[in-house]
Parts: sequence; C-alpha cells; structure tokens
Amino acid sequence: MTDNSFRNDRRRLLRGALMGAAAAPIGYMGVRGSNALAQDMPKLAEDDPQAIALNYVHDATEKDDMRESDAVCANCRLYLGSRDDEWGGCTAFPGKAVNTNGWCSAWVRASS
Ligand code: SF4
Repeated sequence: MTDNSFRNDRRRLLRGALMGAAAAPIGYMGVRGSNALAQDMPKLAEDDPQAIALNYVHDATEKDDMRESDAVCANCRLYLGSRDDEWGGCTAFPGKAVNTNGWCSAWVRASS
C-alpha cells in the first residue's frame, strides 16, 4: 500500500464516520417524531416474538419477579410517549406502541 492510497483510505473512513455522526441526530428526531403517530401505531402484542424475547408485558406487575418495583414504560428512557398517554412509541419496538404501564427487560431508568 502506498502512502497516497493509505491517506485516501483514511480520508474516506473519516468522511464516513463524520457523515454517520451527522446523520445520528436526524435518525433520533425521526424516531421521536414518529411518536406523534403513536395513536395510529399498532399495539405491540405480548406474543410478538420480539416482545417475548424481551419479556414485554402490558401490565408490569406481571413481571414483579424480574423488574425493579417502580419500573414501567412510563419511566423508561426508551419510551417515546407522554406519561399521560396510555400507549406510546418505544425505541426498542419501532413502529409499535407499548403500554405506559408495561415493562420489558430492556428497561432503563429515564433521567428525571
Ligand atoms: S424498552 Fe422501556 S418503554 Fe420500551 S417496552 Fe421496554 S420498558 Fe417499555
């Protein structure tokens, strides 16, 4: 490999990394914005394979043996809905609405 091709490869790699970093907030805004349509989204079914994989339930109390006592979708960092909504989007389940009082094993406490 010549010095020139090494520099070109490095430049291409850096350009790709910068473009990826620039696109990340746009993707995030798209996910956040999609919650405006949460009421139109289909509700995540508890028997959905992805829901089963993450132990999702509409009623968090069904997983008391697995979760922190106050952990529910409403106080999860991945929840995109308002705490006042019964259903809202979730970044763990794109395109599906989860119940505000639900829970899954991907739960992460939202900063207050
Ligand atoms: S990631 Fe959070 S908001 Fe999404 S289903 Fe799991 S607990 Fe609920």
